[in-house]
Amino acid sequence: MNEKAGRELTLSRRAELLQSGELDLAGLAEDGLKQAQDKSDLNAFITLLPERARQDVERVKRSLKNGQAGPLAGTVLAVKDNIALEGEPLTCASRILDGYISPYTATALQRLIDAGVVIIGKANMDEFAMGSSNENSAYGPVRNPHDPERVPGGSSGGSAAAVAAGIVTAALGSDTGGSVRQPAALCGVIGLKPTYGRVSRYGLVAFGSSLDQIGVLAGSCDETARVFQVMAGEDPLDNTTSPTPVPDCVATLNRGARGLKIGIPEEYGGEGLHPVIERAISEVAELLTDRGAEVKPCSLPHTEWTIPTYYIISSAECSSNLARYDGVRYGLRLQADDSVAKTFLSATQNGGQECPPHQSTITPGDTVRQTRQSGFGPEVRRRIMLGTYVLSSGYYDAYYLKAQKARRLIREDFVNVFREFDLLLTPTAPTTAFRLGEKIDDPLSMYLSDVFTASANLAGIPTISCPWGKDDSGLPIGVQLMADDFREDLLLAVAAVIEAAR
Ligand code: GLN
Repeated sequence: MNEKAGRELTLSRRAELLQSGELDLAGLAEDGLKQAQDKSDLNAFITLLPERARQDVERVKRSLKNGQAGPLAGTVLAVKDNIALEGEPLTCASRILDGYISPYTATALQRLIDAGVVIIGKANMDEFAMGSSNENSAYGPVRNPHDPERVPGGSSGGSAAAVAAGIVTAALGSDTGGSVRQPAALCGVIGLKPTYGRVSRYGLVAFGSSLDQIGVLAGSCDETARVFQVMAGEDPLDNTTSPTPVPDCVATLNRGARGLKIGIPEEYGGEGLHPVIERAISEVAELLTDRGAEVKPCSLPHTEWTIPTYYIISSAECSSNLARYDGVRYGLRLQADDSVAKTFLSATQNGGQECPPHQSTITPGDTVRQTRQSGFGPEVRRRIMLGTYVLSSGYYDAYYLKAQKARRLIREDFVNVFREFDLLLTPTAPTTAFRLGEKIDDPLSMYLSDVFTASANLAGIPTISCPWGKDDSGLPIGVQLMADDFREDLLLAVAAVIEAAR
């Protein structure tokens, strides 16, 4: 059995073959690393972790030998570089975290490690997860494996590209306004954003704390369900996690679509939507009807407020969350009088204790200003300024407070619609993968990429993107399913119906 085929097996089959020795775990991981190097033009990784992967392989092999293999033995994993892994760099694709080594591991990731994954690297992303094209990375853009002249989507672009290129079997991403689902759609893989509070955010670098969730990208629903299952559930280290029990989403993966009521929101279409994606929605609606679901139109009347509401709230939260990067405790520090002289301070390198010599002419404020100005890229600076503006006295009521009220109305739209419907079917993104550089100078058109995804984060509900067909240039199309709080089981089961028909 060759390694590529090995990575494409369902997880249960892969575990059997690993157990019987027909498939070699070391070969699987080595091949992933080799693929990452051979496909380095994609720029999907910020850091490859060959040594760490070898240690993971040894650990999982021992567990296989003792008959104590975890449910994810054999999953080769990429981790978005805003999720902490102890002893490894954590850059968030930002200069400001240059040289920072994470002192601990995120809860969600630790659960996957305990279940037997092999981590081969930290994936590229938009800086601090702000972006829809992965062009806002200090480490350069990621390229789409289906066409290297096009973007992979963002902000989890490296994670999506690594799965789509067959480098890894699964990847972790984060989703604040669509960053798991949108790159999943543009790269032709599955992307699941769980319910807010379903997966611990401990160790996920905060962007918009009331919106952020760690999500899964993978080639199949089976793999997605198994990874989700392991990482979900309450965590004492994140008091926003929910005690709601996690149902067995793997066991119900074959429940089908029979008897489900599926709504197609009238507001999720129109002008900006590419006709080929509209056609995909009709085809999937037909398929699900054929499989016994009742599909009909529904309405989410406050949809038009999604983008302004999302960008006000996420930027406000980002301006507060990113205040901690002050050149004192983490990563980069620039001297105010010398933009070239850099001191890297990181908690693990020197415990934040060692400070540069006192320079009487420079105030601490100068150092903070200089560090932040040079350490953050232009999009992150734009968000911090926007967020500071909408929170400032005099504008707070007009923007932030109003956005909170709009958020409540958007949430209520979903509460109402899920009284009648089990699921919603919508596009994931308004277009297929666009060209590198096409939208980078037009932030507004970039922000509109989130028009179908950000509402789920505002409402906190779970959603999934699954591939359905290609456009005329052979680029993948993604369709999105949305469900009521904590119904990831339904999302995965219906995504599996779509997957089987593909
Ligand atoms: N594209 C959105 C933004 O730039 C979403 C990002 C995300 O989900 N992390 O904010």
